[in-house]
Amino acid sequence: MSENCGTLMGCGVEDERSFSMDDYSGPLARWCPGCGDHAVLAGVQRLLAKEQLKPERTVFVSGIGCSSRFPHYVDTYGFHGIHGRALPIATGIKLARPDLDVFAVMGDGDCCSIGAGHWIHAIRYNINMTVLLLDNNIYGLTKKQTSPTTPQGFASNTQPRGSFLPALDPIQTTLGVTNASFVAQTADWVPSHLAQTLEAAHAHPGFAFVRILQRCPVFTPTIFEEAAMNTDLTELLEHENGVTDEALKGVYPHTLYHDPTDIQEARRLAESSSKVRLGVFYADPGHARYEELRAVPKRTAEEKIALLNAEIDRYAV
Ligand code: SF4
Ligand code: MG
Repeated sequence: MSENCGTLMGCGVEDERSFSMDDYSGPLARWCPGCGDHAVLAGVQRLLAKEQLKPERTVFVSGIGCSSRFPHYVDTYGFHGIHGRALPIATGIKLARPDLDVFAVMGDGDCCSIGAGHWIHAIRYNINMTVLLLDNNIYGLTKKQTSPTTPQGFASNTQPRGSFLPALDPIQTTLGVTNASFVAQTADWVPSHLAQTLEAAHAHPGFAFVRILQRCPVFTPTIFEEAAMNTDLTELLEHENGVTDEALKGVYPHTLYHDPTDIQEARRLAESSSKVRLGVFYADPGHARYEELRAVPKRTAEEKIALLNAEIDRYAV
């Protein structure tokens, strides 16, 4: 199939298929009742249907954790990887097949702990993909261990007297990495904001990082409870190049007009606040993208084998 092919199998026959949300639904998700992952899955399926992404040209990649079951539940291609390694796998896929739509889905333990090295470098490489961090502030799959984003003082099975250290803030971290190009935050309990944020991230040409505050009613039921129940505790970042939603403004009394091209202001806003800030902190499509700088030439299988053999022959003794 040719790159950006609008036809089926590159044969010249127009692709007249249209896809509903159901067309992207895999088997029944096995997350706990009330888990925020269900809402994120629905939001992602809504995006896929809205953008009419072809299932055979869309890939979901994950690491390990509750949220990393994501690829099983989306009826596209998928790769359920190993712990902390969603981003290198997604990078490899995107470099080999730049025509594919690539999504990486990670949890907070997965991305911010064992996968942190990959996370930092993937931000800098700025390869065009949509990256979702489903952050429930805990290791859920392995039953309540402290993760890097667990709030200080929150008791877990590994730190029963409460987490010793202040939590890592994934938005601040991402904004601090050279060449960061898109950084947003949304929440599983605000579906229209989630949907618009996913749309903005998907439309962004580069590494679009979205932290999704995700409720885990089993292990961290209290952490997001107040923010989810009391709209007074949230501040929406609004901009025509980010997320704007008139209907939401009727529900959330605090809105801040923020130009997402202003990285200094984005960093300031990402610092601790008494309110939970939702919206696009930073978006600039002008950043260098690794896949454009290091485009891999197209080669036939025979050419690849010949090159490989030539390389091996260099070391013959
Ligand atoms: Fe969701 Fe928590 Fe259950 Fe995991 S343990 S599926 S994060 S509610
Ligand atoms: Mg987690």
